[in-house]
Amino acid sequence: MRHARMCLSWCLSGALLASLACTAQRMPEMTDHQAATDANSNANDPASIHTRAIVVDMHADTVQRMLDEGADINQKLADGHFDAVRARAGGLDAQFFSIWVEPEHFGGGGQSAIDRADRQIAAVRALAAEHPETWELATTAADVRRIAGAGKIAALMGLEGGYAIDERLENVEKYYKLGVRYMSPAWSVSTSWAGSSGDAVGDARGLNDFGRNVIREMNRLGMMVDVSHVSDKTFWDIIETSKSPVVATHSGVRTLVNVPRNLTDEQLRALARTGGVCCVIFYPAFLEPGWRDAQRKVDAEITPMVEAASHQAQGTPAQRKLVRDRVREREYLKRLPPVSLARVVDHIDYIVKLVGIDHVGIGSDFDGTQAVPADLSSVADLPNLTRELLRRGYSEPDVDKILGGNMLRVMAEVERGSEQATKK
Ligand SMILES: [Zn+2]
Repeated sequence: MRHARMCLSWCLSGALLASLACTAQRMPEMTDHQAATDANSNANDPASIHTRAIVVDMHADTVQRMLDEGADINQKLADGHFDAVRARAGGLDAQFFSIWVEPEHFGGGGQSAIDRADRQIAAVRALAAEHPETWELATTAADVRRIAGAGKIAALMGLEGGYAIDERLENVEKYYKLGVRYMSPAWSVSTSWAGSSGDAVGDARGLNDFGRNVIREMNRLGMMVDVSHVSDKTFWDIIETSKSPVVATHSGVRTLVNVPRNLTDEQLRALARTGGVCCVIFYPAFLEPGWRDAQRKVDAEITPMVEAASHQAQGTPAQRKLVRDRVREREYLKRLPPVSLARVVDHIDYIVKLVGIDHVGIGSDFDGTQAVPADLSSVADLPNLTRELLRRGYSEPDVDKILGGNMLRVMAEVERGSEQATKK
């Protein structure tokens, strides 16, 4: 089923390219007026609007695939959600790659966490160094605009969970210098200095004094603070501490789907007051009411299958985790109802109505989830999102803001905040 859908989207984009090519060939035979009318109608179609926008995805977990599966994302891959070929087909201009250190396998800090983060950063840097025709490393909003203008894809990095700073403030600067431009204090396991939304510790833990100093150091350097995954207490401590706009790189709306990873209305308002942006995740569990309960039932049914695959698999714990994830992905597709990208836009709509058009973006979590919307099944499907936004009445300037403009504004503001803090 998944394959059929991907073929369909590829055929559609192929048909679109063919029709654009036909238009170009026809042009010399037309009168000037006909050509102008034709160009005008093309200029306002969803594909043209999508192509003109600078599309910035704030979160994908693809680097772990590159390390643990040896995936070469410069080829079109038969599985997963992301590679350079599909990114180009989807009109993506900038990708923030998540530098993710799984605490279960690499510790809650210490040398193995540092090594794991450093290897992922090296992989992103190598991508840009070895494929300069496709990728360029970006660290500023101006970089992203320039690279997009040159027809390449900007590669950026965010640390997901502060495990790799290993409770040392100087390591924040180390990662900044390596090109990291956002960090979430915790992933699903709390750190000693910040509570997570994913464990019981986080219910009572916010930021301690060290955690507040980490946020101030990030402000000073010009590294964005990401609240996706942190506990509610940590969220409010970050809002109180940060002098720069605060972002959620991959979350949804808790009023629509009540999971701790989503933001409450009060949190969305507070985030907007900092000038920040909530980037809506594409994961059905956080988007579609009731989907997570159904997923839990399926998880219980497929446990023996998942464990058997893990048992048979060779390799490191991280590689075996990927094997388990593949089984889950296959079984979810078979056993759970498909979810439409309309749900992504429902969450975008809700945020726009609550706090305005300037505070919403996109954070796919591609290659980090075992399910995706049926019509947003890989990065190649991003034009479908633009089509749905336009169908709901969003103007081109609005679409530009949602797809990347808002995040570029925040990046520039965080950079400026850093300059001001340095001058003081
Ligand atoms: Zn995440």
